[in-house]
Amino acid sequence: MPLTQDPPWVVVGLDNGATCNNATVLDAAGVFLVDQLVESPSRVNDGPEVAVESLAESLRTVLELTGTPLAAVRAIGLDTPGPASADGVISSKGATNFSQEAWHGFDYRGALEERVGLPVVYNNDGNAAALYAHHVYFGERADEHSSVSAIVGTGLGGGIIEAGRVIRGAAGMAGELGHVHIPMEGLLADGQPMPSCNCGQRGDVESIASLTAIEHNLLPFWLSRFPGHELAGVDPHTAAKRVRSLGEQGDPMAVEIFEQQAMAIGRLFTIASNFTDPSAYFVGGGVVEAAPAFREWFVARVRSHIALRGEQVDVAHFAIVPDLDMAGARGAAIAARAAVLAP
Ligand SMILES: [Zn+2]
Repeated sequence: MPLTQDPPWVVVGLDNGATCNNATVLDAAGVFLVDQLVESPSRVNDGPEVAVESLAESLRTVLELTGTPLAAVRAIGLDTPGPASADGVISSKGATNFSQEAWHGFDYRGALEERVGLPVVYNNDGNAAALYAHHVYFGERADEHSSVSAIVGTGLGGGIIEAGRVIRGAAGMAGELGHVHIPMEGLLADGQPMPSCNCGQRGDVESIASLTAIEHNLLPFWLSRFPGHELAGVDPHTAAKRVRSLGEQGDPMAVEIFEQQAMAIGRLFTIASNFTDPSAYFVGGGVVEAAPAFREWFVARVRSHIALRGEQVDVAHFAIVPDLDMAGARGAAIAARAAVLAP
């Protein structure tokens, strides 16, 4: 008599971005069935109904591409930019990607679950990327380790992983690392104004370590110290985006800016070392997608600004968040697979 066997199953990860969805498929054994971006329009600006339909379309596309029947899918992992609750309800005040009134307080996770008729596991994009970085780095031993990830983008995202799982917090707002206050003494140059953040605070990590911070806080100050710099007179938004390539070329002003960002992340990681004492510290974002020499310089600078105790130095790991463009979808899928396997 044949032994009864579970049919093969998979989970799907859907990363919902401002313009694109990215989808991936992860099998029961933990192997990704696609190794590239599988993108389709996210249409979030057309409102929740259209966006949910676009996610369903994205699911259909990735299943077709991998030759996976819908019946094999046990769960969907969804990640979006926040702020949103741990259950995937968009903030009642809306969010950068979800500005229309219809999005305010919208139960995105629940709506997708209803549309596709499968369990949907939600994470914000920072947490999903942090989870992916953790699992790539620790592999089969992921559950034995903890980590903290700081990802520099428009804002400062990331997440905290303990024993292989995302720390979500009571309201789903754990790991909002960008809005942690850091000491500014010795970080700001003489005469540099206290930087402010979109969240209304002054002197948090994101007010230094983000593209927004370069545009609003760092460039205006540093251009005053480098008169005649080639970015003087350039539209601030465009100028901010050019700072990275200037950093790669060793431009002295860009180096000052990235040094301040490295120090801000180092100080955040020092706080983390006293909170959860993680096994690993991961840095991600545009700056680590840069030329290898510049990336290594930046990570080394971050590391030099983390004040660890001797016992922590002996066991701590430092690495980058890999495959950043796929990290959201892949982390979302890892969370969905963990939910399926959970007893
Ligand atoms: Zn903030």
